[in-house]
Amino acid sequence: MDQTKDTSNFELRKKLKALVTQAQNNEIKLQKLQRQELALISSESLPQLIDVILQQYRNEYELDYVSLLLIDTDYEIRHVIEFMSPGLLKLPTLIFSSNHTTLENVVIAQVQEGKANTTAIQKTLFPDFKEEPYLGRCSEVCKKVLFPAIPKDAASVAIIPLIRNHKLIGSLNLASYDSSRFIAGSGTDLIKRLSAILAVCVENSINNEKLKLLGLTDALTGIHNRRYFMQRLEEEIVRGVRQKLPVSCLFIDIDHFKAFNDLYGHAVGDEVLRYVAEIIKSQMRMSDVLARYGGEEFSVLLTNTDTHLAQEIAERIRVTIEEAILTVNNLPDDLHITVSIGCTTMIKTNDANTNVSFLGETLLNAADHALYASKGAGRNCINVTDFDEIATAQSMH
Ligand code: GH3
Ligand code: MG
Ligand code: MG
Repeated sequence: MDQTKDTSNFELRKKLKALVTQAQNNEIKLQKLQRQELALISSESLPQLIDVILQQYRNEYELDYVSLLLIDTDYEIRHVIEFMSPGLLKLPTLIFSSNHTTLENVVIAQVQEGKANTTAIQKTLFPDFKEEPYLGRCSEVCKKVLFPAIPKDAASVAIIPLIRNHKLIGSLNLASYDSSRFIAGSGTDLIKRLSAILAVCVENSINNEKLKLLGLTDALTGIHNRRYFMQRLEEEIVRGVRQKLPVSCLFIDIDHFKAFNDLYGHAVGDEVLRYVAEIIKSQMRMSDVLARYGGEEFSVLLTNTDTHLAQEIAERIRVTIEEAILTVNNLPDDLHITVSIGCTTMIKTNDANTNVSFLGETLLNAADHALYASKGAGRNCINVTDFDEIATAQSMH
């Protein structure tokens, strides 16, 4: 009798030990999940959130490769990112798809090749199938679409749909070189919980970036507005002073713009504004700042650009606009547009008066002064005003 008791005690202890270990493991998993959730929720911007997803998540869960696919039907998300943090567009792990079909095709390929779990196969018959994570080996289609830059073929993958308000907004895609990492049919509760939070965070941060962009963009032309320009002006002046690098500024004003409005109407005037903004933008480098400063006047900030180069850029803008011909629907004439440009350059080589708002004001005044000179000289030309001259005149007031 005693022996039986001993055996059952031993069995009980073994079971208890297993349970404790399981509880400890679950505790660790949960803590990890909470850490990850906190990192997602406290991300302050879209770039930071994307970093949490693509880098921190990968490290925390020891994954070999992580990618994020976002469904971006009207190029809206890409447009926002291009404005706010263009570097993100170069990431091979951030994938955009203009429709749902791309992701659906991946899932279908996974299922058809028998590489996904059977629940997924059953679920494909139902419209809500998208809500299930897909675990299994990686099909060719899957690799091509979701892991285009993976250094080695993935042995197993998890495709986790991101759903917001019953709408598929993208997917989080995890890859491992270990074939036993993601096995069809294994538990996905933690993954599902994380993906629900992830979907909310992605949507929120995209909306936030859109709002930010809206406040800093000119609705008519789609380029930045004056508010954004003033913010950047300060930043670039600080940088220019600190690094002793030249900062140039152009003011570009459309000649006799009022005549376009008077002759052809306000809508054509608007079309001219959009057209000119587009041409100036095409001549800019990534680091330059272009804004609609007001009415038919544009401002450009050229970082690390001396007066020589600034004049060259200004001349390129002037000539491109002069040579372009705008054809507007239902108008008998082609429109010929010219602009006048004012140019100035700040080079701070000493530490005398480095007051940022004084320097910013001087830069704007000097560019405006130069623009006025171009108008006076008959328009369709460029003038340069010496920054220090205006600074001296200003400090005497
Ligand atoms: P100048 O060569 O001296 O610059 O002459 P201008 O006619 O271009 O300059 P002026 O300042 O006399 O006129 C600017 C006009 O721009 C007046 C204003 O009605 C028009 N304008 C300002 N904002 C807009 C806009 O958003 N759309 C349109 N269509 N017109 C605008
Ligand atoms: Mg004008
Ligand atoms: Mg004007």
